[in-house]
Amino acid sequence: MTQITIIGGGLAGLTAAIACAEEGADVLLHEAHRTLGGRARSTAEPYVANDGTHVLYSDGAPFRWLDRRGLAGPCRSLTLKEFRKFRVRYDSRLLARPPRPLVRALLKRGLDAPVHESFASWGQRHLGEEATNAVAGLLGVVTYEADPGRLSAKFVWDRFRRVSRPGFPSPRYVVGGWGRMIGRMAARARDLGVTIETGSRVTEPPSGPVIVATGLDAARTLLGDPALTWESGRSALLDLGLTRDPADAFVVSDLDEGGFLERYSSPDPTLAPENESLIQLQMPLRPGEGKNEGIARLERLADLGLPRWRDRVTWRREALASGRTGALDLPGLTWRDRPAIDRGDGVRLAGDSVAAPGLLSEVAVNSALEAARRAVASIGKTRQMK
Ligand SMILES: Cc1cc2nc3c(=O)[nH]c(=O)nc-3n(C[C@H](O)[C@H](O)[C@H](O)COP(=O)(O)OP(=O)(O)OC[C@H]3O[C@@H](n4cnc5c(N)ncnc54)[C@H](O)[C@@H]3O)c2cc1C
Repeated sequence: MTQITIIGGGLAGLTAAIACAEEGADVLLHEAHRTLGGRARSTAEPYVANDGTHVLYSDGAPFRWLDRRGLAGPCRSLTLKEFRKFRVRYDSRLLARPPRPLVRALLKRGLDAPVHESFASWGQRHLGEEATNAVAGLLGVVTYEADPGRLSAKFVWDRFRRVSRPGFPSPRYVVGGWGRMIGRMAARARDLGVTIETGSRVTEPPSGPVIVATGLDAARTLLGDPALTWESGRSALLDLGLTRDPADAFVVSDLDEGGFLERYSSPDPTLAPENESLIQLQMPLRPGEGKNEGIARLERLADLGLPRWRDRVTWRREALASGRTGALDLPGLTWRDRPAIDRGDGVRLAGDSVAAPGLLSEVAVNSALEAARRAVASIGKTRQMK
């Protein structure tokens, strides 16, 4: 039987490998890096910080797919302890409740927004300026974009509706960090007979069915196809280990600047040494702004939510995420307009900027499942995937 080759051992590549192998296909996966996981890697103990992905959304099909196979868990959800420490930055002040403009937007959740118009102009008419800005600030955490107002109204509003669903809280925290989940996925793939080669960078797509799960930039080079681009965010990232202080916020959602601070060691204390906290912060960068300016704005956000944090630092890491935070759809475009899964000649794409629905990494999982279904069908394995 023909082998399916998968290039890339991140969330998308491992999902595709498991899905193909579950249908009985012979699978070979190449990962350029020495370790699997891509953006879903975590740092080593004692400070376990996720490089990219932070939470899974339990109200989405990708979570159910992972959970059914025992790959997601153990996971933690939020408790009253975390809810009590939710804070919002609005008008330069730290609030314990959502400000009125955000409540006004929440009351209009039932509205539908159009694809063709920008969120800024649609919001101005339907929500008013203050509520539009508050929604844009709230969504910094899932867009990594300083100006969500320039994006398609439907893209932004659908995400607002998703994160403000009455079923909240849907976020799930993978105990021990995302690296653990990647380890479980790799073990499952190997159990199913997948051959995984790490430290194996592919420079020419092999013949036969191939799933390219490398991220769009690498896929563009690998396939020599300049059309493989899509809009994505740009953010400064700051991770902190701090000695614990009961006064620390759990979350600061920065409605003024789109920033976000979260103390991940609250739902999962294994992420930091005893009596310490692990906090990850992100700030979408404005046009022309560099990482250091973003970090300076993050430090001011930390000043609000983490009293005297500068005297408590035990570990610190800074990074820039540019084009690494998933797809953003501009006015007139939806996920269906992103680079298609089928590229011809048996080549298929999977990843978080590919034509598939979902929020952040859900796009990577959804596109991987679809690419796997098509690759398996192409070699005559047609059993319905569950
Ligand atoms: C800061 C940040 C925060 C995020 N937060 C969240 C979140 O909270 N929730 C969420 O759902 N998502 C989040 N995301 C998005 C999520 O991390 C990604 O959507 C997901 O990890 C993408 O997985 P992937 O497999 O498509 O790509 P990647 O993880 O980039 O994997 C691609 C892999 O391909 C390999 N590769 C590249 N070229 C080659 C080659 N030529 N040969 C062999 N291998 C190759 C790479 O080494 C890499 O391992 C976040 C992302 C970032 C950056």
